[in-house]
Amino acid sequence: METSVLKKIWLSSPHMGGTEEDYVREAFASNWIAPLGPNVQHFENSIEEFIGNNVHAACLSSGTGAIHLALELLGVGQGDEVLCQSFTFSASANPITYLGASPIFIDSEEETWNISPELLEKAITDRLDEGKKPKAIVAVHLYGMPYKVDEINTISRKYDIPVVEDSAEALGSTYKGFKCGSLGNLGILSFNGNKIITTSGGGALLTKDDAMKKKAVFLATQARDNAPHYQHSHIGYNYRMSNVLAGIGRGQMEVLGDRVAARRHNFEYYKEHLSAIEGISFLEEMEGSKSNRWLTCILTPSFGTRERIRLALENENIESRPLWKPMHLQPVFSTAMSYTNGVSRDLFERGLCLPSGSNLELADLERICAIIKKEVA
Ligand SMILES: *Cc1c(COP(=O)(O)O)cnc(C)c1O
Repeated sequence: METSVLKKIWLSSPHMGGTEEDYVREAFASNWIAPLGPNVQHFENSIEEFIGNNVHAACLSSGTGAIHLALELLGVGQGDEVLCQSFTFSASANPITYLGASPIFIDSEEETWNISPELLEKAITDRLDEGKKPKAIVAVHLYGMPYKVDEINTISRKYDIPVVEDSAEALGSTYKGFKCGSLGNLGILSFNGNKIITTSGGGALLTKDDAMKKKAVFLATQARDNAPHYQHSHIGYNYRMSNVLAGIGRGQMEVLGDRVAARRHNFEYYKEHLSAIEGISFLEEMEGSKSNRWLTCILTPSFGTRERIRLALENENIESRPLWKPMHLQPVFSTAMSYTNGVSRDLFERGLCLPSGSNLELADLERICAIIKKEVA
């Protein structure tokens, strides 16, 4: 059979709920075709209501832009150092360099695959010994799995270094009953096309401080001073979200609960059908944590097995992807400082993300599992 006739299964594709087009039509009908308007307001309100924990949301054009603004709001600038989880997508780290600062990459612990509290504290004390205090910590709930929030916040408070909580992959995840995005000094979300809900492209900055939100919106709209003419005392950005795209976001928020349930169901299905295979394992939740299971990841016994599975799926028109390649192994960050323990390198070599969209059908999951079983069982 030719691969072209097999139905394509994507890793994580957009999944509209149905009302998105109504809100987009509203934007057209009212001529709010601009980076402000009622949809932006409504979308922000529904994010605030969903996340709770007294959070204010500023909708932006991307999650990357949100991290950039978060770091700027925390005072990161030229020559500063920022501690950043190494096992992540490059967007967690790139904005550090936009500001002329340098990342120091921190490897992961094995329980959540996220930033290791031990290595983080080691890096901080080393830098303090050198007379240099890092300006911020970027911690990531990778694949939707909450990092060790209490441990990281304890270190943050002990050394007075604020945390940017990268929740781009973790909308709908919770830690001890609190929604991810509300657990750091500043939080960020992404609504890129492959995330759990999408506006095609977009993001948000989350803060408990209303003045901070106002400052974020000010910077995101070219930092205009209060004057009838265009006057500027700060360098600004064009980072605000379009009212057209916010209409998509409004509709997506109505189905977010269903999307989390569907992704968690995918995980349970894979676990039920694949965990009997020797050597294949899944990341479990820590007590008190609930992952949105944005992507289901498996660990295989070796790089070779991982590649065999990936290529067997690809051969049948099914997209899967190796786990993120850690930032400390990326050519572009080859001169950056790092604190490593081998955990993220091993995850990268042996791990694979399976198709995890909320729009997968039972037949898709059956097809995927059958291929994997045939390949390695
Ligand atoms: C997607 C993502 C981002 C960036 O979001 P964009 O909206 O694509 O700019 C940041 N961090 C992580 C971990 C992500 O997965």
